[in-house]
Amino acid sequence: MSQPLFRTPKGTHDCLPEDQQYMTYIKKAVRHRGRQAGYKRIDTPMYENRAIFERGIGAHTDIVEKELFLVSSKQSDDDAPAFALRPEFTAGICRAYIEHGMQQLPQPVEFYAIGQCFRHDRPQKGRYRQFHQFDFEVIGLKDPSLDAQLIQVLTKILDDLKILPRLTLQINNIGTSESRRALAQALQDYFIGKERHLPELDRARLKSNPMRLLDSKEEDTRVLLKNAPTLAQFIDDESKQYHATVLEYLEMLEIPYVENPLLVRGLDYYNQTVFEFWDQSTGAQNAVGGGGRYDSLIELLGGSPTPGLGAACGIERIIWHMKEAGVQVPNKDQVDIFVAQLGPEAKKTCLKLITDLREMGIHTLGALGEASLKSQMRLADKFQSRYTLLLGKMEVKNGTIIIRDMAAGKQKEIKFKDILPTIKKMLGEQNLDAYTLKDQLGKEVDED
Ligand code: AMP
Repeated sequence: MSQPLFRTPKGTHDCLPEDQQYMTYIKKAVRHRGRQAGYKRIDTPMYENRAIFERGIGAHTDIVEKELFLVSSKQSDDDAPAFALRPEFTAGICRAYIEHGMQQLPQPVEFYAIGQCFRHDRPQKGRYRQFHQFDFEVIGLKDPSLDAQLIQVLTKILDDLKILPRLTLQINNIGTSESRRALAQALQDYFIGKERHLPELDRARLKSNPMRLLDSKEEDTRVLLKNAPTLAQFIDDESKQYHATVLEYLEMLEIPYVENPLLVRGLDYYNQTVFEFWDQSTGAQNAVGGGGRYDSLIELLGGSPTPGLGAACGIERIIWHMKEAGVQVPNKDQVDIFVAQLGPEAKKTCLKLITDLREMGIHTLGALGEASLKSQMRLADKFQSRYTLLLGKMEVKNGTIIIRDMAAGKQKEIKFKDILPTIKKMLGEQNLDAYTLKDQLGKEVDED
């Protein structure tokens, strides 16, 4: 095979039909569990005013500082790019909540979203530049029971997808922004006189975002951190109480968790509850999902003070886990019938037959060319069709058609006029893919 002239850009990938089956299955679980719990679907643009991410997520976080894909329109090429591809959903959804005056709606307003996100990260296993997330947001009301219920929705989905046993729920409370400001100040004070022992990057972080030293990978920093002030020392009583109640509710809902005082999450907008679903074998490295409270984000984006809570999971990582765990998903793309024909009369008759079969909800292929019956049969085999229908010149003349069971290797000739009911019976009515848009609309009208 010759080398392709073009390939997918680094860190992106095609989602081929094999993976679409997983995608569809996962989206179905998300929609189902979301609707059950009162969430409504929202789609926001893939790119937004970059300030939404810079303000919301924080200018000195990895996601904004290093990973934002900037987008410039042609007109503004001379200026700094005005837009950025979304690295996550929360900030855009909060922008939508404000822009559409949703504080007038009954609160909380609950959304779910499914789609692509973009981070200009160094690609590696489970880390891409374009990837899919599903996301849940609960905006406008604050209560520990909402935190527990959101975690429960995620848990249900991960359980539906049969990967929950591979994961652990890690949870922490990082206090209010005041607690974190106090810690940031305490860290800066603690490092006075010790700066020169810090690696250059961490020295810069000490000025811009001292909290980020806490999960530094640098050995020198880690040594110095041993006696440094910790977040736990600065958590206010209200947050402690809030956390205890969330945990109590999780226990009530029989959701196992691990309390992790070091879990902070990388984004500025979080406060109080934060959580992640970690892979049991690799830990934080390849978390499948995470989220937390963001009670000051809406205000930061120009809205009136409004509490918020959200979480997102990475779909590629979920698919990886499902494959590792051997989870089978239904293949809805199977070919039921392959129609082979020979001669112009047969071909015309088959065009009508194929249409009728498809209308009945039968996945049908055929009338693909002028090849011999033998090579059409080989094709039917390659497409893994369950049955092949053969219509040659003789059959047209006799008003018959041949049905071949591909697995059994047996065939029989029947009257052409009986073909539709015969096939329907052979496949079983319950296996027909009888969905049509008209049916669906009809159903919705009925349900009203
Ligand atoms: P985060 O809010 O950054 O924790 O992202 C939520 C989830 O999205 C993570 O737990 C991952 O499953 C997924 N995710 C984040 N970044 C990437 C990436 N670069 N490639 C693939 N999945 C990602």
